[in-house]
Amino acid sequence: FPGGHLTIVGANAPSGLASRPIRLLLCDEVDRYPFSAGAEGDPVNLARKRTVTFWNRKIVLVSTPTNKGTSRIEAAYQESDQRRFWVPCPDCGAEQVLTWTQVRWSKGPEGDHRPETARYHCAECDAAWRDETRWAAVSKGHWVAEQPFAGVVGFHLNEIYSPWVRLEAMVRAFLSARSGGDETMKTFVNTSLGETWVETGEAPDWQRLYDRREAWKPGTVPAGGLFLTAGADVQKDRVEVDVWAWGRGLESWLVDHVVIEGGPGDPTCWQRLTDLLGRSWTHANGVPMNIARLAIDTGYETSAVYAWARQVGFAQVAPVKGVDGFNRSAPVTGPTYVDATVAGKRLRRGARLWTVATSTFKAETYRFLRQERPTAEEVDAGAAFPPGTIHLPGWTDSEWLKQLTAEQLVTVRTRRGFAKLEWQKLRERNEALDTRVYARAAAWIAGADRWSEAYWSDMERQLAVPARVDAAGINPGRTARPASRRRAVRSNYMG
Ligand SMILES: [Zn+2]
Repeated sequence: FPGGHLTIVGANAPSGLASRPIRLLLCDEVDRYPFSAGAEGDPVNLARKRTVTFWNRKIVLVSTPTNKGTSRIEAAYQESDQRRFWVPCPDCGAEQVLTWTQVRWSKGPEGDHRPETARYHCAECDAAWRDETRWAAVSKGHWVAEQPFAGVVGFHLNEIYSPWVRLEAMVRAFLSARSGGDETMKTFVNTSLGETWVETGEAPDWQRLYDRREAWKPGTVPAGGLFLTAGADVQKDRVEVDVWAWGRGLESWLVDHVVIEGGPGDPTCWQRLTDLLGRSWTHANGVPMNIARLAIDTGYETSAVYAWARQVGFAQVAPVKGVDGFNRSAPVTGPTYVDATVAGKRLRRGARLWTVATSTFKAETYRFLRQERPTAEEVDAGAAFPPGTIHLPGWTDSEWLKQLTAEQLVTVRTRRGFAKLEWQKLRERNEALDTRVYARAAAWIAGADRWSEAYWSDMERQLAVPARVDAAGINPGRTARPASRRRAVRSNYMG
């Protein structure tokens, strides 16, 4: 740069650019920039303003995309001439954009995936390309704009174009991501496919859930349920509690729905909630089970909830506060120590409070509810339900199901023009969804998202005693799921 200058600033403090004219502006990973740099507004726009004095300015935005609807790079790409890279097939010559849907691999006789067989199939003639074929084809490709040029050029590439990545590694990363759930899948979609992630926030159809209810003895826990949590929603005149059983892969069963009349001002209401903590539900194998954790919402009558939680103890009860927004890697944070008031006395740091990113668990619940499930026939033949499957008992009524499906995720514009994902109520009452989210948070707090295989087998052993006769008795069909799948396919490429 003879006579020039190179200035590097952080997106959180673009004021570092304030006094400088910029001709060439390079913004990297713009999807990770904050919406606003302090009170100054969009950091990209702030930086852009520094370039206005140059007739020959150049502004480059680069990023891995994030969420659909809120991604900066997606918005910028849509304003561009939208170039994609077209590659000729070595067999038939047809030019095409390389997409993940054309990547295929074989399965072994046991249905196990064989990533080492991964190949790319021509969209036109279906010829299978090996890595070397693909790399040679990419070297003969060229950019094609999909929109007329209006001052902005935009380029999109995914990892399939990379001369450093074998398809085998991509398939391993994909399988690993898929078994890891939303968080890891989003990373794969964003970083490997270079695509935005679509939040699955559409409310499932309550009638469909109604038709899919299952019959088991009311008040009992089906065999796959290994521990219980509850979510409690405090209202003015009542406390609503749902008790959920959880199994491997966070498969869950609604075990009980309890409405305690009276409100937070009524001591008998709290006494009955305390009684509920001592109550037990019988596991299919005859073992009585208590609620391992109850998460209770502190939003309505905070001090009454703290006082009660203090009295019964934080080992079994977790006061929670719901906050808007997604936090997939840490949907629950805490506990933080908060002040409590008991019998008119203020106790410094007398209670504990966990913070729950409710969006994450709402989206997860809806995704689990929408999941395909095996037919009754396949279940009889030993097929396992996919991880996360939500089982609803025959006594679930339409009102409860309407509450569970009472919200949907929509993209809204903030007053300052930023796109934001937000949950909107479709119906006034949504207690069933709230209590589900709290019960799910309780499972997280209990540690269920981090338990080892050994821990799960241990719980299975404990519940099987004394009723279990043979090893297959506890949950036939469960053996169909290789427990160590996630570790077995962990790829070093995803880092
Ligand atoms: Zn072809």
